[in-house]
Amino acid sequence: MKKECFKIAVFAGDGIGREIMKEALKIIKIISDDKNINFQLHEGLAGGCAYDHFGTPLPDSSLQLARQSDAVLLGAVGGPQWEHLDYSIRPERALLGLRGSLGIYANLRPIVAFDELLDASPLKRSIVQGIDIMIVRELTGDVYFGKPRGIKQGKNGKRKGTNTLVYTEDEIRRIAVRAFEIARTRKKNLLSVDKANILETMELWRDVVTEVGRSYPDVTLQHMYVDNCALQLIRNPAQFDVIVTTNLFGDILSDEAAMLTGSIGMLPSASLGKKSALYEPIHGSAPDIAGQNVANPLAMILSVALMLRYSLSMPAEAQLIENAVTETLKEGFRTRDIHQPDKKLVSTAEMGDHVAENLRRFLN
Ligand code: NAD
Repeated sequence: MKKECFKIAVFAGDGIGREIMKEALKIIKIISDDKNINFQLHEGLAGGCAYDHFGTPLPDSSLQLARQSDAVLLGAVGGPQWEHLDYSIRPERALLGLRGSLGIYANLRPIVAFDELLDASPLKRSIVQGIDIMIVRELTGDVYFGKPRGIKQGKNGKRKGTNTLVYTEDEIRRIAVRAFEIARTRKKNLLSVDKANILETMELWRDVVTEVGRSYPDVTLQHMYVDNCALQLIRNPAQFDVIVTTNLFGDILSDEAAMLTGSIGMLPSASLGKKSALYEPIHGSAPDIAGQNVANPLAMILSVALMLRYSLSMPAEAQLIENAVTETLKEGFRTRDIHQPDKKLVSTAEMGDHVAENLRRFLN
C-alpha cells in the first residue's frame, strides 16, 4: 500500500482541550495504523498554557509549526485565570494569530442533527430531523475589517460610531469557489445569503457569486436575503444543503444554526486557508468541567474527520469516523452534556474508546 506522510500541528490548548485532544489522537492513530499513513503529529503550545511558559499566547515556535504543517488541530483556549491579562496577550489572541498566519478565509461549520440526539434540540423533532447543513462563512472582509471605523466625538458633543462594509471582487470570488466546490461533494445545492436589496456591496456579492456559478452548471445556485434565511433556519432547516455568506451574516447565522442541534459538544469546524487549515470544535475550554473527564470529545473527533476530508483528501476515512460516532450514539453511550435517563453515561475517555472501537470495526 502507498505510504503517505502528513505533518499535523497539534495544539491541545487549555481547559478541556487536553482531555478531548487525547481522544482525537486515538482516532488518528487508528487511521494511521490501518492505512499505513505517517501522520507526523507535532504538539505545540497555544493559548493560556503558552502564556504561562513563554509570556505570549502564541510563541514564534508555534506559529512556525502551524505554517509548516498540512493542517492544524486545536482543542480550545482560554480560562478565568487569564482574564485579568491585557487583550493583546489573552489566550484567545492565539486564535487570531493562527488564523492570520495561515491566511484563513473560509470557516466551515457543518450542522448535523444526529437522530439519537433530536430531543436535545430546543425545536420540535419533526423540524430538526434530517438536517445536514454546511455553512461556509467568509472570514477576511466585511464590517470587521473595513475602514474607516471607530467612535468619534462630533462637533455637537455627541459620539458617532462608524464601521464600513467592504468586500472586494477577489474576496467574494475566492469564497464562492470554495462553496461551489463543497456543494459539488454534497447534494449540489448552494444558497448564497446577502442583503442585496439594501446594500450595494451585497449587490456585488450576488453578482460575483452568480458569475462564479456559471463555471459550476452541476450545482443549483439560489440567493436569499439574510432576514429570510434567519427565519427559514427555524421554520424549515431541512431545506438547506450548503449556505455561503459574508463574515457578519455568517457569524450570526452559524450560531443560530448551531442551536438547532442543541449540543455544543457535538459541533466541529474547519477554517480553511490558502495552504493550510485549522480544525477545532466550536466550543471553548469549558473551565467549569475541565479536569473531570466528563467533557464530550465528539466535536473534537468530528473535527479530525473534517481535517481528513478537506486537508488530507481522505473522504472515505472521514466518513468512517462520522459513522463510528453515529454508531456509538446508537449504542446508547452518552457523556454528561447529552445524557438522557435511559442511556449509558460514559466519561470523556470511555466515549473516545467506544468511537475508536467502532472505527476499528468499520475499517476491517
Ligand atoms: P464554553 O464553550 O467553553 O462553555 C460553555 C458551556 O458549554 C459550559 O457549561 C461548558 O461546560 C459546556 N461545554 C462546552 N464544551 C463542552 C464539551 N465538549 N462537553 C461538555 N460540555 C461542554 O464557553 P465559555 O464558558 O463561554 O468560555 C470558556 C472559555 O473558553 C473562555 O475563556 C472563552 O474565551 C474560551 N473560548 C475559546 C474558544 C476557542 O478556543 N475556540 C471558543 C469559545 C470560547
